[in-house]
Amino acid sequence: MHFGYSEEDESFRQAVRKFFDEQAPADISRRWRVGVHPPARDDIRRWQRILYERGWGAPHWPVEHGGTGWSALRKHIFMEELYNADAMDYGWQSTQMVAPVIIAFGSDWQKKRFLGPILRGDEFWCQGFSEPNAGSDLAGLKTTAVLDGDEYVINGQKIWTSDATIADWGFFLVKTDATVKPQRGISFLLVKMDTPGITVRPIVSIEGGRGLNEVFLENVRVPKSHLVGEAGMGWTYAKYLLEKERTASAFLYFNKRELRRAKDIAAQERVDGLPLIDTPGFARKVAEVEADLLALEWSVLRILAQEKSERNLDAVVSALKISGSEMQQRVTQLQMDALGPRVLRFDDHGAPHDDLSIDENWPDYTGGRTSGYLIARASTIYGGAREVQKNIIAKLAFGL
Ligand SMILES: Cc1cc2nc3c(=O)[nH]c(=O)nc-3n(C[C@H](O)[C@H](O)[C@H](O)COP(=O)(O)OP(=O)(O)OC[C@H]3O[C@@H](n4cnc5c(N)ncnc54)[C@H](O)[C@@H]3O)c2cc1C
Repeated sequence: MHFGYSEEDESFRQAVRKFFDEQAPADISRRWRVGVHPPARDDIRRWQRILYERGWGAPHWPVEHGGTGWSALRKHIFMEELYNADAMDYGWQSTQMVAPVIIAFGSDWQKKRFLGPILRGDEFWCQGFSEPNAGSDLAGLKTTAVLDGDEYVINGQKIWTSDATIADWGFFLVKTDATVKPQRGISFLLVKMDTPGITVRPIVSIEGGRGLNEVFLENVRVPKSHLVGEAGMGWTYAKYLLEKERTASAFLYFNKRELRRAKDIAAQERVDGLPLIDTPGFARKVAEVEADLLALEWSVLRILAQEKSERNLDAVVSALKISGSEMQQRVTQLQMDALGPRVLRFDDHGAPHDDLSIDENWPDYTGGRTSGYLIARASTIYGGAREVQKNIIAKLAFGL
């Protein structure tokens, strides 16, 4: 069996690497490395525009909508290099969540209206699914949308809506029929975030970020043409979307980069004159995480290779979500172990973006690590909580 890359793939990698080295703006990458939540809207827009102009705005989309037609392996190489370069990877709600749903189920008008602005970075989206009493039990959502002439009128509340303060648009799950079983009465609506009746209230998270929000909707009027697909089919579209979210939630590229970062830190921190990375105790911890991450990588590569397969991948995708999110917590924990007392450096993620000056009192490699560790605690919750993924595996893989 051959585990290497072909010569063509290697030269593709070099071209991608050169592009990121030369084109990724240093100021955006620095803010991204420190991990400000939410990133500045202008940073997302500027970087997406650069990718778009190179033809790489959404590599995984179908070619007719602006995708690249790359093989799964090339997409993998692209992502590896993006993360190796510490370049920004943001806007998944736009390019990887709502866009695939619009491409698969949207009207011709919706494709024409929404895909171009996403690709160019002109418009950015948030995801309005969860509600105060409907997270894992999403089908129990209570926000309603009632048809009034040519408009839906929405009333209700969403919560944990990432990036609602900076998003131009939101894709919302709403109840349009309360007389049928919950999954059959849900619809998928595209809503402009500055529509009268929408109030967004940030929730400050543990690392000081203001990326999460409550969204209140009071008599919000949305044209009927913003309904994706058929009324009552929103659950099917949401499942399609969440499956994509969970594959991304293996966080492979993030995990590889953060493990590398943990090793870099440990190479610079010293214990009794010896680099920490060379001490047997720490070296063993690194080896354990590294071996498990390699196994995760091969599992992800197997799934990527099967992207056209007919097989139902739901249980496998759930297993990847669990391993990937737990790995996120392990690699960031390793950084904390390596930093020792330097974990006390805390960058307030709520600070204005321009205030993130380099702090001379701390080595540069400490920047953003503690806040990154804290926010990684959420990875086993968002995109479908770990216990719920275990239930899915029990049902689909073992028939329990
Ligand atoms: C950082 C972050 C970003 C997020 N971004 C978004 C976003 O942009 N848009 C959006 O719509 N939502 C978002 N969410 C919400 C996320 O999808 C929900 O938090 C998640 O689905 C869990 O729902 P919940 O918070 O209501 O917890 P609950 O569903 O109340 O779960 C609480 C606990 O009970 C467990 N549990 C629940 N049901 C079962 C069961 N049947 N069996 C066993 N255990 C169970 C869960 O595993 C969990 O441990 C985000 C959440 C976080 C933390």
